[in-house]
Amino acid sequence: MAYVSFPYDAPVSQTLFDRASLVTPGGVNSPVRAFRAVGGTPRFMVSGTGPYLTDADGREYVDLVCSWGPMILGHSHPEVIAAVQEAVARGTSFGTPGEGEVALAEEIVARVEPVEQVRLVSSGTEATMSAIRLARGFTGRAKVVKFAGCYHGHVDALLAAAGSGVATFGLPDTPGVTGAQAGDTIVLPYNDLDAVREAFAAHPGEIACVITEASPGNMGVVPPLDGFNAGLKELCAANGALYISDEVMTGFRTSKAGWFGVDGVRPDLMTFGKVMGGGFPAAAFGGRADVMAHLAPAGPVYQAGTLSGNPIATAAGLAQLRLLDDAAYAAVDAVSAEIRGLVGEALAKEGVAHTVQAASNMFSVFFTDRPVRNYEDAKQQESFRFTAFFHSMLSQGVYLPPSAFESWFVSTAHDARAVERVAAALPAAARAAAEATA
Ligand code: PLP
Repeated sequence: MAYVSFPYDAPVSQTLFDRASLVTPGGVNSPVRAFRAVGGTPRFMVSGTGPYLTDADGREYVDLVCSWGPMILGHSHPEVIAAVQEAVARGTSFGTPGEGEVALAEEIVARVEPVEQVRLVSSGTEATMSAIRLARGFTGRAKVVKFAGCYHGHVDALLAAAGSGVATFGLPDTPGVTGAQAGDTIVLPYNDLDAVREAFAAHPGEIACVITEASPGNMGVVPPLDGFNAGLKELCAANGALYISDEVMTGFRTSKAGWFGVDGVRPDLMTFGKVMGGGFPAAAFGGRADVMAHLAPAGPVYQAGTLSGNPIATAAGLAQLRLLDDAAYAAVDAVSAEIRGLVGEALAKEGVAHTVQAASNMFSVFFTDRPVRNYEDAKQQESFRFTAFFHSMLSQGVYLPPSAFESWFVSTAHDARAVERVAAALPAAARAAAEATA
């Protein structure tokens, strides 16, 4: 690792990290937070307001992670906080149905046309795991097609060639997932319809579903090529398999109706999380009513959750979604375009090979001058330049995802002042990237 010492120590964060490391594996509750890909002390955050986070050492950062997507209105949005306070005053969990979950389900159905029925869960992982079980139960088939570099949560069967933290750590697979659990998973290169065609030909009548990130953000942002999602849909329909679009990251972020609102390809099932929870653990899967009818208690495929449809989480999610109108998406798209432009300019000025890729307002910077179409392309980038870039930005008060294989996220709260602070940090960061050595 090129970084041994840091001129901008974070002593309080370091003390917390030392304490955490004694009682929690690696000191964190989700691997990418540990900064292993970039080195240094993970920042322990104590508060967030609008586009800013404040760490335990009292330093403020412009946040370009936004809790990995959910905080599309920025931190501590007053209307979301008020909805949460109002809900929490009535109790925190009842283990019964409640009106909030009906209202959230209605909001999702109203926004995303292919979703006729929806089931609420507590994490994106649960959503994709349940959608796959349902697809298998509905079709009576076992095999699942996924794409290398696409991350669908830590579902055993889907932790083969996954992106996100798995990409960061370069693990081809993970111990603890047995051959039997991953044996029905077929991993194909992303953006390659011929590979999908060949898989259907090689396994006639065996493939239950194809699951894909609607527009991948977990190997960095790698949008589907024109016609790729439509081709998947067609191949699934022709072969009696379900097309599952994982919109945990893109849902209610890339447009009012997520990536479906951008490309209009109708999935059989969809999964959601992140934005729909307003910063709380809420997620969902839904789609065709005839497929969803197979889910317990309406049908035989079992699925359940003690905290599913939790009243605080649904109140937060609903408040956030109701604020996300066309103007809000236009604002997020505009600030994303502005920051992308600034990053590209700064890197170009220092002669750093780079490609900025975007899917609506999600974007990431690859340190290569070649377009990135799949996971193999993404791995060709010079990640050591990202490390130098990241630490320079961090030391100047800009918090980027601590990995070259992640999307950057912005919010409606990223105003001119926040953008100026990013712009001011970029020249030195670009220089650091230019001077970095492997
Ligand atoms: N699917 C996608 C596309 C994701 O990006 C993620 C998380 O980043 C998940 C599923 C898993 O969601 P969670 O972390 O809430 O389990």
